[in-house]
Amino acid sequence: MIDRRTFLKTGAAALPLAATLESLDPAFALAAGPAVTAGGSTSKLVPLPARLGPLDPADEPWQRKVRRVGQTNMTEHDPAVMNVEEWADYWHSAGADIVFVSVTCILAFYPSKVKFHRHGKFLHNRDFFGECAAAAKKRGMRVVARMSPDLNWGDALQAHPEWAMRLADGSPLFSSQDPRLFKTCMFSTYMDDFVPAVMREVNSLYDVDCFYTNAWPPGGLPECHCAICSKLPPAGTPAYWGAFNDRVFDLWKKYDAIAKEKKSDNFYFGNLGGNVHASPNLARMGKTAVWFQADNQGRSYYDPEVWGCTIQGRACNAVLDGKFAANVTGAYSTGAVVWRNGSKTPDEARMWLNETLASGMAPYWHFVGAEDGLGEDRRWQKTGADYFHWAAKHDAHLRGRRTIANIGVVMGQSTQLFYKGPAVAHSRAYTRETTYGLYGALLKGRYAFDFVHEDRLEPEDLRKYRVLLLPNIAVLSDRQCRQIGDYVQSGGSIMASFETGLYDENLKKRPESGLAGLFGIHSAAGVVGANGNAYYGRIERRHPVLEGFANTNWLPGTQNRLPLQPIQEPVLTVVPGFVAYPPELAYPPVSHTDEPAVVLRESGSSRMAYFPGDIERTYWITGHGDLLRLLDNTIRWLTAEERAVDVRGDGMVELFAWETAPGYAVHLLNYTNPNSHHGWMHSVYPLGPQTVSMKLPAGVKVKSVELLRSDRVAPFHLTGESLVFTIPSVEDYEVAAVTTA
Ligand SMILES: [Zn+2]
Repeated sequence: MIDRRTFLKTGAAALPLAATLESLDPAFALAAGPAVTAGGSTSKLVPLPARLGPLDPADEPWQRKVRRVGQTNMTEHDPAVMNVEEWADYWHSAGADIVFVSVTCILAFYPSKVKFHRHGKFLHNRDFFGECAAAAKKRGMRVVARMSPDLNWGDALQAHPEWAMRLADGSPLFSSQDPRLFKTCMFSTYMDDFVPAVMREVNSLYDVDCFYTNAWPPGGLPECHCAICSKLPPAGTPAYWGAFNDRVFDLWKKYDAIAKEKKSDNFYFGNLGGNVHASPNLARMGKTAVWFQADNQGRSYYDPEVWGCTIQGRACNAVLDGKFAANVTGAYSTGAVVWRNGSKTPDEARMWLNETLASGMAPYWHFVGAEDGLGEDRRWQKTGADYFHWAAKHDAHLRGRRTIANIGVVMGQSTQLFYKGPAVAHSRAYTRETTYGLYGALLKGRYAFDFVHEDRLEPEDLRKYRVLLLPNIAVLSDRQCRQIGDYVQSGGSIMASFETGLYDENLKKRPESGLAGLFGIHSAAGVVGANGNAYYGRIERRHPVLEGFANTNWLPGTQNRLPLQPIQEPVLTVVPGFVAYPPELAYPPVSHTDEPAVVLRESGSSRMAYFPGDIERTYWITGHGDLLRLLDNTIRWLTAEERAVDVRGDGMVELFAWETAPGYAVHLLNYTNPNSHHGWMHSVYPLGPQTVSMKLPAGVKVKSVELLRSDRVAPFHLTGESLVFTIPSVEDYEVAAVTTA
């Protein structure tokens, strides 16, 4: 008999084929219970890095101190019905540090003299923007001047036909909801002339702190056939993306310079969001934006996962280096059917706000319209104010300085934008399914992980990670492949799947993955999909990635795979797919091949795992527990069972851990809820005890552990550097705030 530890040391080569695994190790068979339990029993804690130096508030630009953002999104009718004093009182009493007030470009909310800045029909020359801005300032709130450069009216189109986006036949594009409005082209002089004219007029009249453009940059890459765009590279290509990014960052700098004409610490920011699907290059954005506006307001029919907000926070953390991000939560009813002026279910809204804080962004509460003074439906007001009041008591603990994580997940923005997947028409769905498959597996395993942008793979970006995961990151440049190679060379571990590295940054297909050398693999054929039954993986020998599988020779494979040439001593081999129907023919044409279904390598301290199939996505679209177990085992093997923070207990939670100014904060989001994957949350299903362990830097002592949501103190044990405490129960959310000495 051989135990797991010895097995890890000796490696797979020393072992015979394992036809019946339980005969080798009874513990192996016993482990084959529920799919995945958090925190392997053998996990080791990684010591946290030495604490950062103290924060000097004088070094902090004002926006980094913003903790709560409020917005009543103004309608044309609001100048006739909104009670300005009541509006300002609400946001002030809620504790908003800053409010958005509409200048707009679609309808002027002040007596604008800029040509084609149409006055709203209820404005009657009233300075509605000025009154709101003054009421906010009087109460000590800062003011964002909100513009919307995406649409304008027919008279502007007649005078400036060059401002419009055009279809291939030359006709202008109109708003699908109100065809009186045409869509402006971001490459046109509308953006160079009209928008700056509005900004300068506002600067000349008002004391604003910053400018913001709603709906720009656009959420997806636009397709326009106007005279200018016709000269650009074809829409939807990496070359177009280059031109798009250049235009975005040129305009961004220009608008920022105009904002600063008023005051040097004023600035401009645009509309972002879209998490991993964002359209501007996020690594460049991280260097440019001082306010990351995550316009990510709630779940949608096509994106129904509860973690829609945290995935945004992780995307921000990958690029911002501590710069400010706010996530907009729709207090109104977002979703497949929208009620723009009706309150959202409070449990759902609160979870979105919880996720905002847990993932490191500032909460931002947003409602549309102020009929009857401040809205016909006013239920949203208490939900937001109560949440803001709670958060305000704990600002120091709720502001993270850096994440605690030892796993990096490469967020391939080029792959998200351009890779379509094999024979799957809907590229966004394919990449989303892949991302969510890994995301879901990491949550089930309760791992502390970060996203890593494909353009930030330098050694200093990757140093903190024990492993880098590449979930079918199909598009990687030669340089990025080299950087990943350097990371492995320096002792890092990696996991990749399917077409990772098969395309360069211009979508040129390589004969082999750019990472083939690292894994020691050679392609044998093009992609093979499933025809009825997908293929299976036959268990050839024992390995830690197969822990918990017993009483089977086969494991399910994936929907698609890239066949590989044989390797030495494979752990799993492919049993080729066959038909599901008729059952008479549902058996493998050959029962045994030498085609590997996984490739596992070790070199020094680095471990490498490559799945030739689209394992993350197949797990996501099927929910198959074997694929989840295989992914989880592989991640545990790659990390050598090391964790940056260990949280054990029942339930489906998303975990974040931060170093904060007072100490550390561990956030637990309770997704154990029938509405986590669809619909909205209507109630809370509390979790039982959760035991948290961390290994603090040498010499760091602990003063207290406070549970901020349940408002109680947790007893703790500090033995050497090991801190252990138990959170007795978790409602929808808990933050364990560790104050160090
Ligand atoms: Zn155009």
